[in-house]
Amino acid sequence: MDEAQILQLALDCGAHQASWIDIRKDGVFNTVFRDICASNACGQYGMCHMCPPDVGDIEKLIATARSFDRGLLYQTVDSLEDSFDIEGMMRAGQAHNDCANRIRDSLAGMDGLMHLSTGGCKMCERCTKRDGRPCAFPDLAMSSLEAYGMDVYNTARNAGLRYHHGPNTVTYFGMVLMKSKPDA
Ligand code: SF4
Repeated sequence: MDEAQILQLALDCGAHQASWIDIRKDGVFNTVFRDICASNACGQYGMCHMCPPDVGDIEKLIATARSFDRGLLYQTVDSLEDSFDIEGMMRAGQAHNDCANRIRDSLAGMDGLMHLSTGGCKMCERCTKRDGRPCAFPDLAMSSLEAYGMDVYNTARNAGLRYHHGPNTVTYFGMVLMKSKPDA
């Protein structure tokens, strides 16, 4: 599958818009995102195998992301009743997660890919990390752009994608990272 086909696939899976970037030129990374995760505003810090600190050292994760050549940054957009519409945000998060899962499943079997989404891994209703058990689906688990230190705002700008879509909307991002020559 070539880049144009993967982009179309993301749109067919429910993405609002998507754009390919050169990871090393247009991907913006910053270790400060680890501090933001550690502030635990989302309540997932230390509660999910794919979230900090369990997902790994941020410098190493940034290096991993930068070992890829190309990245398809995609976004989902949903409307909210108002800026306090928590249920609407949760519905939008679920819709984004469903879109990410469809993209992941459609690309299953392709070598040299890594897929990052938004927030913690949503595969299981309750991450086994909370019960001190290993990940239930290591092949399907998905980490986030933020956990890998990506500055999504500035990367989206470089990709030509809008970060906001106006009042009473919520926009979530994901990325399929691809190596032009998969590791041997
Ligand atoms: S697949 Fe399940 S157990 Fe593994 S990180 Fe995701 S939510 Fe946690």
